[in-house]
Amino acid sequence: MPSEPVPAFDPERFRREGRAIVDWIADYWHAVAEKPVQSPVKPGWVRAQLPPQAPEQPEQLDAVLADLDRVIVPGLTHWQHPGFFAYFPASTSGPSILGELLSAGLGVQGMLWATSPACTELETHVLDWLRELLGLPDRFASTGTGGGVILDSASTGLLTAVVAARQRAAGSDVRDDDTSHSRQLVAYASAGAHSSVEKGLRIAGISRQWLRKIATNAHGQMDADRLASAMDADAQAGRIPFFVAATVGTTSSGAFDPVPLIAAAARRHGAWLHVDAAWAGAAALCPEFRGPIVAGAEAADSWGFNPHKWMLVNFDCHTLWVADRGPLVQALSMKPDYLRNAATESGAVIDYSDWQVPLGRRFRSLKLWLTLRMIGAAALRQRIRDHVLWATEFAGWVRDDPRFEILAEPSLSLVCFGLRSGDEASAALLDRVNGEGRVLLSSARIGSRHALRLAVGGTLTRREDVETAWKELSRLA
Ligand SMILES: *Cc1c(COP(=O)(O)O)cnc(C)c1O
Repeated sequence: MPSEPVPAFDPERFRREGRAIVDWIADYWHAVAEKPVQSPVKPGWVRAQLPPQAPEQPEQLDAVLADLDRVIVPGLTHWQHPGFFAYFPASTSGPSILGELLSAGLGVQGMLWATSPACTELETHVLDWLRELLGLPDRFASTGTGGGVILDSASTGLLTAVVAARQRAAGSDVRDDDTSHSRQLVAYASAGAHSSVEKGLRIAGISRQWLRKIATNAHGQMDADRLASAMDADAQAGRIPFFVAATVGTTSSGAFDPVPLIAAAARRHGAWLHVDAAWAGAAALCPEFRGPIVAGAEAADSWGFNPHKWMLVNFDCHTLWVADRGPLVQALSMKPDYLRNAATESGAVIDYSDWQVPLGRRFRSLKLWLTLRMIGAAALRQRIRDHVLWATEFAGWVRDDPRFEILAEPSLSLVCFGLRSGDEASAALLDRVNGEGRVLLSSARIGSRHALRLAVGGTLTRREDVETAWKELSRLA
C-alpha cells in the first residue's frame, strides 16, 4: 500500500499554519498591555473549559486558535506585560523565539558531537563569546581546561556543580562501586541563597543537616568570617567542606556576597566554589556594573547565570561555565556501547551529554546566537542601563514620599520597599495594587520586614510603565 505523507509533517501545511501562529503571537504582543497582568481565573477554571477526553479525529488550527483566545489567554499571568515587575521578569525577544523555532524545526539531538557537530560547536563558540562579553576570566574559556554549557535553569546548574564538586572531593580514582565516603561532605551557602541550593544538595543525597546556612550581615551578604569558622570547625571534626555556593544578586534583595573573601575560605579547604549570578549576571555586559558581579570569579570553579532572565533570551537558557571540565565529565560521562563513535574516541570533541544530567539535548545555542547577532551586545547593554536608571528613579520617588521607606539598598534594577506604617499595611497595598491589574509586583522577607519588590526587566517595559507602578502605589497607599 503506498503511504500518504504524514499530515503532521507536511511542509506546505506547516508553512501556512506557522505563519498563522506567528501572526497570533504578534497580535498578542500588540494587545498584551491592555490585559490585566495577573490572571483572574479561579483554580480549576481552565480545566473546566477543556473536553474531558483527547480528540480522536484531527481538528483545524482555527479551532485551536479560538481556544487559545477563549481558554488559554484568560488563564495567563502575562509575563510579557510591560507592567510586569514581579519575581525577576523572564525576558524574551523575536530573534530568540525564532531561534527556538529553528531548534524545534531542525529537531536534532546534540548529546554527542557526532550526533550533530553544529549543535555542539555553536554552543561552545557562543558561550566563549558570552564569556568575553561578560568579562569573565579566561579560565572559563573552552580553549583551556574549562568551558561553558547551556542548561535549562540555574537550579540545574547548581545541581551540576554539586555533582562535579562531589566527584572532585571523592578523588579522581573513585570507582563506581565506591559509593560511600567515610568522611561526611559538607556544603555552605548564605541564609539568603536561593532555595535551589538546598534542593540541588538534597537531590545529590546531601541532606539539610550537612548544609551550613551562613548568617548574613545587615546588607544581606554572606558573613565571610562565619563561613571560614564553620569550614574550619567541620574540617577539625573530620568532615570535608566540599562545596560553597556564593550568590551575586540574591533573589530577595539583590545582595552581593563577598566572593573574593568566600573564595579565600573555599581555597583553604579545597572546596568547590560555585557562583550563582542567575539574575545579576546579565548586567556584567555593562563595564560600569561588571566589577562587583565578576569579583572573585577568577577563583571560582563554576559560574552561572540565566540569559532567560534579563538578556532577552526566552526561557529556558541557563549558561554555566566551569574552570576545569575534568570532574564534571568524570561525574556525568556515560558511554554505553550504542553511543560509541570515532570522534568521541579521538578525544578531540566535546560530548555535551557529559556536562549535564539528561542524555538528550536541545539546540539551545541557536536562540542565544540569534539574540546576540540580531540584537547585538550594544542594545543589550543599553537595555540594562535603562532598567537600572528607571529603578534608581523609582527608588528616589519612594525615598521622597514620607509614607514609604526603602528596605534594602537598591541593587541594579531591583527595589525593595514598604510602608512605614508596617508590614500588614504593605501586604494590603500589594494586594490592592496587583488587584488593579495594571502592574504586578511581588514580595519578599527582608530581615524581619515584609517588603514589596519591584524588578525592572520586562521585554516591553518602558519608563512610563515604571512611572505607572509608582502612581498606582502612591494612589492606593
Ligand atoms: C532565579 C534564580 C534562581 C533559579 O532560577 P531557575 O533558572 O528558575 O532555576 C537561582 N538563583 C538565583 C539567585 C535566582 O535569582
